[in-house]
Amino acid sequence: TLPLSKIDPEIASAVDAELHRQQSTLEMIASENFAPAAVMEAQGSVLTNKYAEGYPGRRYYGGCEHVDVIEKLAIERVTELFGAEAANVQPHSGAQANAAAMFALLKPGDTILGLDLAHGGHLTHGMRLNYSGKLYNVVPYHVRESDLRIDMDEVEQLALAHRPKMIVAGWSAYPRRLDFAAFRRIADAVGAYLMVDMAHFAGLVAAGLHPSPVPYADVVTTTTHKTLGGPRGGVILSRADLAKKINSAVFPGQQGGPLEHVIAAKAVAFKVAAGKAFKERQQRTLDGARILAGRLLADDVAEAGITVLTGGTEVHLVLVDLRNSALDGQQAEDRLHRIGITVNRNAVPFDPRPPMVSSGLRIGTPALATRGFGTAEFREVADIIALALKAERTAEHTAELRDRVTTLAGKFPLYADRNGCAG
Ligand code: PLP
Repeated sequence: TLPLSKIDPEIASAVDAELHRQQSTLEMIASENFAPAAVMEAQGSVLTNKYAEGYPGRRYYGGCEHVDVIEKLAIERVTELFGAEAANVQPHSGAQANAAAMFALLKPGDTILGLDLAHGGHLTHGMRLNYSGKLYNVVPYHVRESDLRIDMDEVEQLALAHRPKMIVAGWSAYPRRLDFAAFRRIADAVGAYLMVDMAHFAGLVAAGLHPSPVPYADVVTTTTHKTLGGPRGGVILSRADLAKKINSAVFPGQQGGPLEHVIAAKAVAFKVAAGKAFKERQQRTLDGARILAGRLLADDVAEAGITVLTGGTEVHLVLVDLRNSALDGQQAEDRLHRIGITVNRNAVPFDPRPPMVSSGLRIGTPALATRGFGTAEFREVADIIALALKAERTAEHTAELRDRVTTLAGKFPLYADRNGCAG
């Protein structure tokens, strides 16, 4: 019954410091968000104590009557939210969801097509050091050098030449919508499964503000913590006829006991995502990204050699292209960090700088939209970013921008009535 601060003051103080960081800075990492208090309450609950190997109604442990209710609700809500035939809500993360979907449908040595990591793909789409790159024969596809959009002609040529068993569509750093119908057509032409990893844009899909991959793909994977705004975790949606294979690939294929506390938190997040306020928030997320892209495309920023990949955005993030800027990705990330804006540097396609330095920034708006930012605040933060990146840095300049950030953060209190823990 003792509180964390008494049992473990070191951890308690780091958690509190993290809460303060989240409250006092502007979170613009495109894959992050702020989970609602109700989600954290479910996640920090007694459900963490329960073993429940198996699936609702077919468990290998006693006492599962309540977690069965929870897991069934999570499944019902997520299938309804995305119009899917079947769902597995047990993957511990997005990477686990992708691994299980691949284990279900592929054999080691099978060929898969995935977007090159350096061009915006995810590690699990075939990166050399990842399980996906080790187990499967990976043929990467790319964006075109001319407009930095995914080259569907190349996808088709590679598919015809290599006859993959699976085509993976989805991204971690790409500012445009995918052509799901074209991916489906190509997959059908070579008899491949189409797997869409919508981890980044799932919230936009749930809100009806981005085309849904569900009608086109055999399997759709997602994380639950990015635009979707829930607890950290993964989900696999699929056609009904693939559900059995997918379930057994998750358990016993690669996981043991499901995290029922996280599944409860996912269920809460799916309920939130079906509401009106969620849609309005996703609209502000998109508006914010467009405002940011617009500001970073202005002449004063262009003069500093800075531009925006693909000339804009259709999603919740902007990719800043620093290839012609004196600043590299590391320096730009540090500069924003110093004024209280958190982003991540990111390689851009055809990046001349090494990956640890890189020539890009990935800047996302989901967390600030969750915090309550609207058009006026996104204009202000876009201007702060533009000024921070383009100008010669002086101590006064940094202090002035830092003050503007602090004012913005103060306008939208975050988790105001709590400490850093669920209580
Ligand atoms: N898929 C995509 C497209 C991602 O961007 C990510 C996370 O960055 C993942 C999967 C993996 O998610 P997790 O970090 O939960 O394993």
